[in-house]
Parts: sequence; structure tokens; C-alpha cells
Amino acid sequence: MRTPRGWVLTWGLAWATAFAYAGALLAGERVDASLRDYVLGPTLALLTVAVGLAAALRTTGAARSESWLVVAGVACWTAGNLYYLTSDALGHQPELPSPADLGFLAMVPLVAAAFWLRARRQTRSAGGRVALDAVLAALGITAGLASGLGPVLRRAEGAGLDAAVLLTFAYPLSDLLLVALVVAVAAARGSWPRDAWAWLGGGLLVFAAADITFALRTAADTYAVGSLVDALWPIGLLMLVTGLLVPDRGDQSQRSGTFALLVPAGATGVAVTVLVVDRWTALPVLATVLAACALVVAAVRTQLAFRQVVALHGAGRQARTDSLTGLGNRRALYEDLHARQAAAQQVAVLLLDLDRFKEVNDTLGHHVGDLLLRQVGARLGPLLREQDLLTRIGGDEFAMVLVRTGAPGRTGHDGQMSGTARERDVEQVAERLVARLHEPFELDGVRLRIGASIGVACFPEDSDEVNGLVQRADIAMYAAKAGGGGVRRYDAATDLHSRQRLATLEQLRTALRTEEIVAYYQPQCDVATGHVTGVEALVRWQHPTRGLLAPDAFLDLVEQSGLMPELTGRMLGLAVRQCAQWRLDGLEVGVSVNLSASCLLQEALPDHVARLLVTHGLPAGALTLELTENSLLEDPERCGANLLRLAQLGIALSVDDYGTGYCSLSYLRDLPVHELKLDRVFLTDLDVVRNQAIVRSTVDLAHALGLRLVAEGVEDEASLELLRDLGCDLAQGYHLCRPRAANQLTGWLRGRVAGTSYDCARLSETSSHHGPVPRT
Ligand code: C2E
Ligand code: CA
Ligand code: CA
Repeated sequence: MRTPRGWVLTWGLAWATAFAYAGALLAGERVDASLRDYVLGPTLALLTVAVGLAAALRTTGAARSESWLVVAGVACWTAGNLYYLTSDALGHQPELPSPADLGFLAMVPLVAAAFWLRARRQTRSAGGRVALDAVLAALGITAGLASGLGPVLRRAEGAGLDAAVLLTFAYPLSDLLLVALVVAVAAARGSWPRDAWAWLGGGLLVFAAADITFALRTAADTYAVGSLVDALWPIGLLMLVTGLLVPDRGDQSQRSGTFALLVPAGATGVAVTVLVVDRWTALPVLATVLAACALVVAAVRTQLAFRQVVALHGAGRQARTDSLTGLGNRRALYEDLHARQAAAQQVAVLLLDLDRFKEVNDTLGHHVGDLLLRQVGARLGPLLREQDLLTRIGGDEFAMVLVRTGAPGRTGHDGQMSGTARERDVEQVAERLVARLHEPFELDGVRLRIGASIGVACFPEDSDEVNGLVQRADIAMYAAKAGGGGVRRYDAATDLHSRQRLATLEQLRTALRTEEIVAYYQPQCDVATGHVTGVEALVRWQHPTRGLLAPDAFLDLVEQSGLMPELTGRMLGLAVRQCAQWRLDGLEVGVSVNLSASCLLQEALPDHVARLLVTHGLPAGALTLELTENSLLEDPERCGANLLRLAQLGIALSVDDYGTGYCSLSYLRDLPVHELKLDRVFLTDLDVVRNQAIVRSTVDLAHALGLRLVAEGVEDEASLELLRDLGCDLAQGYHLCRPRAANQLTGWLRGRVAGTSYDCARLSETSSHHGPVPRT
């Protein structure tokens, strides 16, 4: 167990002494008076100073000087008190004024300075108002005090003002002025003081109570050391220093209208009471004058408060409004949803996102984009009911809250019962909203059509919590968007799917850093001789739980998440290293690696490849990069430049899946391509005359352009034979060999690479007219 800190012990001891002292005072005769007055009392006062010192030493930052000021004030008061008690013990109770009053008086400006600094620090934005409130509170308090201290004042009015009267009035007055400041700070902060201010204000109140009692008793000549009042002073001070130990909660200004009016209302109440009471029993003139002043200042302050309340209201509305469309904003949406959730109202949240809004903004300018957004808002509004809410929550996203009270008349054609009729109601509204937005917009003379996607989530079925509800509407909206627009109700299954996708993405990132991404290799054979000339590297993911995954299980995700360059880099590294190894082992094969369009556009690609080749000592001629037709079309200029640099390195380039894309012949003529890989769709039904014709003419085209032709997807002997007859150069397919891991393929390659005969005997007997086109 940790030993309590020194300050905790001091603080505890001080309060224990305070209770003992108060108890002793209450017990009266039963406790030894000199022990009580001259031991317990001074001990408490000194302990209070000690607590103050401990607090000041613990305080850091801006509050530090404030704490020291308070401690100094408390120390002065204690000094005065000790002087007073010593004189009293020695048998001569000091008259007013005495040197003790120097100490008592010195406390006031010190504590006042501390309070003022503190108030300024915590209500920076409301300085003027705090000052005015403080003045007003002070006027109200002094008016009340002047009435209450009538006897003291009357003695003064009769006998002329002497120092004694002034002091008796000044003590409670100064305490209460400080209380006024605390009240003003509370009014500015918009809440009752609950933190340090509560202790500070409370301490002052107790202290003021002691001073007022003292003033009244002195006026009546009934005060003597040893009355209960004596405990109130140190207890008030102890509360004050306790306030220094309590952490500040800073400026929490949630200014509420009620609080802005607190001080004027209070002061007015006191002033009016004073004036009314004055009608029956004459109060001191000073009291009525102060009351009148308080009324005037209160009138001014109320004016200001009124404006403040109006401004607050305006600011509140502004904070909830979207300035472009005048609709509610995201905050308004959440407030509304929270309110409806609290009222257990059955609602649906509709999130609407415009399709292709970015294009409008980019091509027609922000001005037109803004116009469009305003018109969208104006179109949606009339389709909603009065109790619904329409907001714009950002960019081109609108959110609606629809009340799902389906009137029985709205039941669908099939006459379903009310439960589902409600659901249908919401989705029908959503469909109508989308349809309305489909109608052309007229923007600055431009006629424009725009689509929208809406996601729907219902409270409480889809989520009984506001954030969850909006999030699910968002998921549904994205599902709608992915499905080409329209309306989509939140579906937990799709959500699960998207979560799984996210999880997979995370695993994929890990996979790329570890050994989970591996290369399988599928051989390519010379159709004429049967020799293996090269292998194609095909990516596989050795997934820790799902087993070996084929590319179609994860390549889309890789591409969408921008991980393709990383994956390609890894595949290139694996393939080049493996190929170099095979060649070291005497297996003279080449290797082909697939490149996606996104990778081909990377400027650093040629240098990266060149470095890899050097690192592993592989001749450039042994590497082929496969590109799909369409990837060549993506950005012809940048892609052309990269292709040229790769070709200059001596790397062969192959057009993959040839025949399925949109490549024009001029591209084949102009780009530095070396190989066409006829897509396997043309190989599936080779007995169909048309397919044969396609293969034949592609062979002819390739050879005419000086390219070699590879047939993919060769699945049977007949196809292979036909390819040989048609003059195809290379073949790849399950019939020859399925893709395998490198170590499983090495054995297979031995005996099939250059010189060794290939298992299909007939092939090796017949030689083709068209040998592979030599690489340029
Ligand atoms: P692709 O480039 O057309 O690769 C040939 C695909 O056909 C491979 O599928 C291969 O296993 C399969 N195949 C080979 N012979 C036959 C056959 O006789 N019949 C049939 N039906 N299929 C055959 P895989 O390995 O599943 O790869 C699919 C696609 O994934 C590849 O098509 C390629 O586009 C892509 N891919 C594979 N590895 C990579 C890579 O490292 N990078 C990139 N960017 N894409 C890759
Ligand atoms: Ca390929
Ligand atoms: Ca292919």
C-alpha cells in the first residue's frame, strides 16, 4: 500500500482539528476554555496555512501565482489572529482598530487579486460580462448587507463615521464582494460551481457569515473570544485553501440562457425587497441608494443578457445548419436521431450519395456543383413528410430521417400486413427520391442528368444505437453504389462480407511481408519440338487458414487496395531468382511474369527490373513480361515509354489474353512487342471451324508482324496436334503440365529442356515449318 502524501495528512489533520475546535466551542463550559481558545484555535489557523502552502507547492502553470496569493492572504489573516489571541490571553482584548486588523485587512486584496486572476483565466471570452455581473452582484449584496447591518450603520449615522464602524462594515462587505465575483464567474460559465470554485465561494460565504455575526455582536457589544463565530473564520479559510487542492475543470462555458440571467434576476430581487421593506421600516439611506443603483445596472445587464440569449439561439441554429443548402447538417442529424432514439420512435435513416458528382465539380466547376447541391436539396424536400428530417452531411451526401409510421392505406398491391408495409413505405420513398433525382437538372444553361445511391437502415432492427444506425446506412449506401446506384436496405450478410474483406486485406498486407505469397510455375513448350522453353510465374497465396488460394480469390482486392506494385515486385523477385537458379542447375528456361496495368505505369519499373536482373545474374533475354491488351491502352504515352525502356534492356514483352481486349493492329505494329498469347477461350472448342480459323489467322498475323504465338489453355492432345498443324509456336496448358511449386517442377523440367525428348513422342517426330521467332 502506498503511504499517503504529506499534504493529505496535513489536510486531514487540519479538518480533524477544525471539528474538534467547533465541538469544543459548542460544548461551552465543559471544555477548558484556555486550551480551546489558545491552543486548538491557533493550531487550526497554523494548520490551515500549512495546507495552503502544500497546495501552492503542488500547483503548476498559470494557477500557481493565484495559489500563492491566497496563501499569503491566509498567512496575513493568521498573523493578525495570533496577535489578537495573544493580547486576549494576556488580558487585554484589542479594541477596534488594532494591529491585528492590519493582518485581517491585508488578506482582502491578496485573495481578491487571486480570484480576479482566476476568473480572468477561466472566462477569457466573457471578461466584460463577468465584470458587469460582479458589479451588479456586489450592488445587490451590499444593498442587502446595508439593510441587515442596519444597527451598525445607524450607530455610524448617529456618532459619525469612525474607524471601528468602517471596519465592521468593511469586513463582511469585502467578503461578499468576493462572493459576488464567484457568482459572476458561475454565471459566465453557465453552471453552478462544482469544482474548485465551489470550495472558494463556500469558504468565503462561511467567512462572511463570521464577519457579519462579529459586526452585529460588536455593535451590540456582545462579542467575546470563545463564541462559535471563532470557528467559522478558520473553517472558512480551510475551505478556501481546500479549493486550491481541487483540480480545475477549466472553462466549460456551455452558456445557457438561464445562467446569463441569474445575476440580474438575483440582484433585482434583493433590490426590490430592500425598497419594499423600506416602506415599512426605515432602512439606512445607503441601503436604498445601493438598491436603486442595483436596479439600474440590472436593467442594463438584462438587456445584454437578452441579446446574449438571442445570439446563443442564433449560434445554436447556425451550428446545426449547412450554409450552402440551408438544410440541417451532420450535427442536426445526430441531435435529431438521439432525440428520436430517446423517444423510441421507429425511424429509418436514408443516406444518399450523388453518383459522379466529382465529375460535375471537376468539369463544370464548383459553382455549378454548388447549384446542383442546392437543387438536389430543393427536390428532395417536397417528397418528405413534415415530421421527417432532411440534412446535408458533407460533400454530395444527404441524410434523411424518415418516420416509419405506415398508414394502412399505403399497403402494397399484395396487401401485406402492416409490419412489412412499413418497411416498404420507406424503401418506396427512397425509390421515389432516386427517381426524382434522375430527372434532368438545368444548371446555368447546362442540362445535366445525375444518378444517386441510397442506403437505408432502420431503427431499431438494424441498430438500436445512433452511430451504428448511420454507419449501417452508409454500408448499405456503398452496396447500392457498388451495384450501380439505386436503393439498398442494410443487409447484415453484405456487411459481414465487407468486414471479411477488410480482414482479408489486413491478412494480405501481412502476407506480402511474409512468405505467404508464393510463385507457382507453368511450363511453356515448343509445339514443334516439345522442348520446354520457359515457365510462366503464377501467383498463389498460401493462406494460414484457407489453404492455397488462386489469384482470382484475391487479385481484385490487391488491385483495389493499391497493393499491386508490391505484389508484382515480390513475384518479379521470386521468378527472377528461381529462373537464375534453374539456369545454374543447367536448365536453360526463360520465365514470364504477369504485369498489371497499374504496374506498367510505374515509372520506376524498368530500373527496378534492370537491377533485379543484375542482382541475380539473369540475362534480360530470359525474362518475358506479360501484359493484357487493355493495359496497353490505359495511358498509351506513359506506358509506351516504359515498354520501350524495357525492350531496350532486352526483355521480351507479351500480349496476354490476346483476342479478348480492344487492341488495334496499329498498336501491335507500333509497340515493341515480341509475343502474342492467344486467350484460352479460342482453344476450348477447336473442332469448331470458326475457332480454328481464328487460331490460323492469328498465327499468320503474329508471324507477319514478326511475333511468336503462344496458345494458352491446351487441355488435350487433339488441340496440341491441331496447333502444330496450324503452325503455332508455343503451347501452355493442363495437358502439358499444371502450374506447380518450383521444387515440384524442377524434376519435371529435367529431361524436357533443350535436347531431351518430350513425353509426347509424335510431336518430337514432326517438325514445324515455323520455328519460334527469335527474340529481337
Ligand atoms: P493468365 O495470365 O491468363 O494465366 C493463365 C491462367 O490459366 C492460370 O490461372 C493458369 O493456371 C490457367 N491455366 C493454365 N493452363 C490451363 C488449361 O489448360 N486450362 C484452363 N482452364 N486454365 C489453364 P491462374 O494461375 O489462376 O491465374 C489467373 C490469372 O491471374 C492469370 O491469368 C493472370 O491474369 C493473373 N495472375 C496470376 N499471377 C499473377 C501475377 O503474378 N501478377 C498479376 N498481375 N496477375 C497474375
Ligand atoms: Ca499470363
Ligand atoms: Ca492469359
